[in-house]
Amino acid sequence: MADYPDSVRVREVGPRDGFQNEPEVIPTEEKVRLIGLLADAGFTRMEVASFVRPDVIPQLSDGPEVLAALERHDGLAYSVLIPNERGLDNALAVRDRFDEISVFLSASETHNRKNVNRSIAESLEGLERVVERARDAGIRCEGVIATSFGCPYEGEVPQARVFEIAAKLRDFGCEEVGFGDTTGMANPRQVDGFYAEATDRLAADVELTAHFHNTRGQGLANALAALGRGIASFESSFGELGGCPVPPGSTGNISTEDLVSMLEEMGVATGIDLPKLLAASNAVQETLGRPLGAHVLKAGPVDWQRPG
Ligand code: ZN
Repeated sequence: MADYPDSVRVREVGPRDGFQNEPEVIPTEEKVRLIGLLADAGFTRMEVASFVRPDVIPQLSDGPEVLAALERHDGLAYSVLIPNERGLDNALAVRDRFDEISVFLSASETHNRKNVNRSIAESLEGLERVVERARDAGIRCEGVIATSFGCPYEGEVPQARVFEIAAKLRDFGCEEVGFGDTTGMANPRQVDGFYAEATDRLAADVELTAHFHNTRGQGLANALAALGRGIASFESSFGELGGCPVPPGSTGNISTEDLVSMLEEMGVATGIDLPKLLAASNAVQETLGRPLGAHVLKAGPVDWQRPG
């Protein structure tokens, strides 16, 4: 039996990774209401906005307005996604409204080129400057590596390359590195080996985060494999919202309610109130007007007292 952590941190990324991939643009006040419901559920980390160009991702063009309207809560760190220095400049204009940034690139050249129109080397050069300036402004930084477990265009992504990029992000000053299975290509055996090595190489100096998508229904199995290697930081989306702009059809982060339900049933504390989280998921389901993929949203929480 794996030696699971007693507690984990779950960053809710639905308001960014989720909303960005829904066809509709959700009105600002509705986003603010939904984020408020999520905050009530007890999250300590939430990704709530993005500073990518509005013409590229119109769904998130109201980032500054969302941030301005959000209620701040003790113990809840808001993070924003920053693609480049221009994005950072725009975020710094509202510096007091968030706590952390996430910067990102892909571990495969083709995906990085299609996503941000740069080579990996060019991305790293830009992100070094972004992280340095963010740190000077006292902001905590997470570096996210997309396609860490496989690329829809190139296939296999060598682990050594992923860890090399992770080490660079750490050296730039990122306190946390997130490994994204952007298009749901990972399997649990791969994840087990990946995090065993990631822990050896990196865990001493940087928090390691798992970011799985449920594109092929393997998201929770992959989360369990990471948990078994002692990983205690996860990212997920309420309702199973989310995806990736490229390629089309890359839908769905793992659902936060399914993740929280599984962990709590295992005795791994998340600090999240599941009924309140389900209230937020029901609300976003109503907003979008269609059923979402999360299982616990349909079935409800396990409602019997486990013996002993
Ligand atoms: Zn994602």
